[in-house]
Amino acid sequence: MRYQFKFRPYQRRFLRSLTTNHGKWDIREGIILRLTDETLKVGWGEIAPISWFGSETIEQALDFCRQLPGEITDETIFSIPDELPACQFGFESAWEWGSGGAGEKNLNLSSALYSLPYSGLLPSGEAALNQWEKLWQQGYRTFKWKIGVYAIADELKIFESLIHTLPAFTKLRLDANGGLSYEEANLWLWTCDNLKANGKIPIEIEFIEQPLPVEQFQEMLELSTSYETAIALDESVATLGQLAACYQQGWRGIFVIKPGIVGSPSRLRKFCHQHQIDTVFSSVFETAIGRQAALQLAAELSQNNRAIGFGIDHFFEKEETWFQTLWNDL
Ligand code: MG
Repeated sequence: MRYQFKFRPYQRRFLRSLTTNHGKWDIREGIILRLTDETLKVGWGEIAPISWFGSETIEQALDFCRQLPGEITDETIFSIPDELPACQFGFESAWEWGSGGAGEKNLNLSSALYSLPYSGLLPSGEAALNQWEKLWQQGYRTFKWKIGVYAIADELKIFESLIHTLPAFTKLRLDANGGLSYEEANLWLWTCDNLKANGKIPIEIEFIEQPLPVEQFQEMLELSTSYETAIALDESVATLGQLAACYQQGWRGIFVIKPGIVGSPSRLRKFCHQHQIDTVFSSVFETAIGRQAALQLAAELSQNNRAIGFGIDHFFEKEETWFQTLWNDL
């Protein structure tokens, strides 16, 4: 099959800049692509890299799109190199949307999609204390809070207030983005274990996400067997290759999967089916186009009814106008 290929780069400004241990993030840059097959079936895809997280850069993705001809084949789509995981996702999901027949599959999956619980992202630091309520009113019952951004003593104090303010049965995830030292990671895990053991809080600390930098895999493996509180790997498993390597080295904790940068959807499906890993699916701050494909994978592959990390609508303006402007010159 041959496909007509068109693409448009985009930039979207966050309503409030996103602060993590990696720094401040103000503008999301990505690429929307369109494949039209010989029967005129149209599929949309999105390339939304996060280079500081382990994917290609936006420039590398743009270079790849620019060097392609206006007409491509299945071979083009399925032979994108592993160094371009966000491109693999964008092209393959556009193919699935149109030619690959995901349109029909989507109908069956839509009910599964609506029943998936969502995790809402709280701002880092003290701001979390007056933001959770708004998200709670929107229906969120699982929250993620970034740690490793401010001094640990301050964050532990805010944490103390937060866990006593959140309503019973709320689930809380702590995401360090690899920003803790080994001692700090121990202190957080110990604190969480202790709260649980004493039955002091009516909420559940679901897991601590990526406590240490990617290079310290062995330390995280050790921590995961030393504490009750679960650990989820995120930065360590950004791409399929990394995910497989961590699994091979014995990781049986939680894997955070960001479909937008992990690589080929078909190979991800294969890996998840083969190994039945405990996964949490998460956004890369993509638009509705990438989100549709990512959510489809989440609905298919999520285990243990874990909330998916797509509760990020409040970080951007409404999408419709933006999208019309992007494509009206096509
Ligand atoms: Mg994370």
